[in-house]
Amino acid sequence: MQFIDLVSQQKRIRKEIEENIRKVLDHGKYIMGPEIIELEQTLSGYVGAKHAIACASGTDALLLALMAYGVGPGDAVFTSPFTFIATAEVINLLGAVPVFVDIDPKTFNIDPEKLKQAITALRSNDSSLHPLPSVLSPQSSKRSPKGIIAVDLFGLPADYERISALAAEHGLFVIEDAAQSFGAESNGTKACAMGDIACTSFFPAKPFACYGDGGMCFTNDDRLKEIIESLRVHGKGTHKYDNVRIGINGRLDTIQAAIMLAKFEIFPEEIALRQTVAKRYSGLFSEVPSITPPAMFEGMVSAWAQYSLMAESSAHRAELQERLKNKGIPTAIYYPKPLHLQTAFASLGHAPGDFPVSEGVSERIFSIPMHPYLTESDQKMIVDAFDEK
Ligand SMILES: *Cc1c(COP(=O)(O)O)cnc(C)c1O
Repeated sequence: MQFIDLVSQQKRIRKEIEENIRKVLDHGKYIMGPEIIELEQTLSGYVGAKHAIACASGTDALLLALMAYGVGPGDAVFTSPFTFIATAEVINLLGAVPVFVDIDPKTFNIDPEKLKQAITALRSNDSSLHPLPSVLSPQSSKRSPKGIIAVDLFGLPADYERISALAAEHGLFVIEDAAQSFGAESNGTKACAMGDIACTSFFPAKPFACYGDGGMCFTNDDRLKEIIESLRVHGKGTHKYDNVRIGINGRLDTIQAAIMLAKFEIFPEEIALRQTVAKRYSGLFSEVPSITPPAMFEGMVSAWAQYSLMAESSAHRAELQERLKNKGIPTAIYYPKPLHLQTAFASLGHAPGDFPVSEGVSERIFSIPMHPYLTESDQKMIVDAFDEK
C-alpha cells in the first residue's frame, strides 16, 4: 500500500501529460513559455485571486513574498512552530527573526488568541506575556513586528478572519502558507485567496503537484504582483539587463506548468474524492476509542494533504506505527519536532515548555495513507489494523 498514490492519478491522464510535454518540446520555450501564463491564469481564476506568479518551489514563493515586503534585519515575523521548516527558514534567511506562536490543539494551526498575546509581548518587549526569542531581549532592542505567516496545516485553512483583523489593527501583513491547502475552502473562500499574499507548493506529495519542484504566489495587489514578478527574475526592471532590485532566479519550468495543466483537468474532482475518503475515515475511526481523528469544521473544506491522527501517548503511537508497518501500511510523522526545538533555530534561545501545545502534539500525532484514490476496502483494512488482535 502507498502513502500517497501518484500512479492511479497518472494512469487517468498519462496521454494528456505526454501531449502537453510534447507541445513544449515542439515550441522549445523551456523558460517562461506560454504554459506558464496559462497556468497562472487558470489557477488565479480557480482560487479567486487577481494575480498568480509561478515560481520554482513553495519555499521560493514564501521567500519572494517576504522579499516583496522588504523583510530584513531588524524585523520580526510571527509564525507557527508546528510546520515544515521552510515556513520559518525564509524569515531567518532574510536576517529577520521568527516569533513563534503556539497552535490550536484541534486545528493544528496558529492560535489567534496567542497571536494577540505575542504581538502585545513584542510591542512591549515583555517576554513574561509570551516566550519571545532571546535575540529580542531589551539589549538587542528594536525588532519591529512586520507580519504574520499563517500555515494551513494538513490542508485546513487557518483562522484568517481573526488573524487578518489582528494584522489590520497592528499594521502587519498576512502571508498564507498554503503549501498544503491548494483546493481547500473556508466559508466559500478558496485557500490561496486569504491573506495579502498566499504561497503554495507543487512538490509531488502536495494536493496539487507537478513532477518536480514548483510553487506559486497569489495576490490581489497590483504592486505586490509587479514586485514579485521582478524578484522572480533577478529583480528585473522594464529592460532585462537593467535590474532595479536584488532578486533571485525563482522561475517555474515550462514543462512543469504543462504537466500541471493536464493534472488540473481532474483536480476539482480529486478534491471532492478527498472529502469522501476523509469522511469514510472519520466514520471508521469513531469505532476506535484510543484514536482521535482530525476534527471536521462546519464551512471548511480541507485539501487533506495529510490525514493525521492523535494517539494517546508517544509510546502508543510507536506501537501503532509498528503494528501498521507489520501489515504493510505506511505511516509518517508530521512533525516529530517543533521548530523552536530544532538545532537550526537554537540561536532563538527557546526551551522545552515554551510552546506546550505544539510539543504535546508532536509527541502523539501521526499520519496514515491519504489520497483521492484510496478505496473503501483499503480504508477498512487500515482501520482494522488498529485493532489490538
Ligand atoms: C512543503 C511545504 C513548504 C515548502 O514547499 P517546497 O515546494 O517543498 O519548497 C512550505 N510550507 C509548508 C507548510 C509545506 O508543507
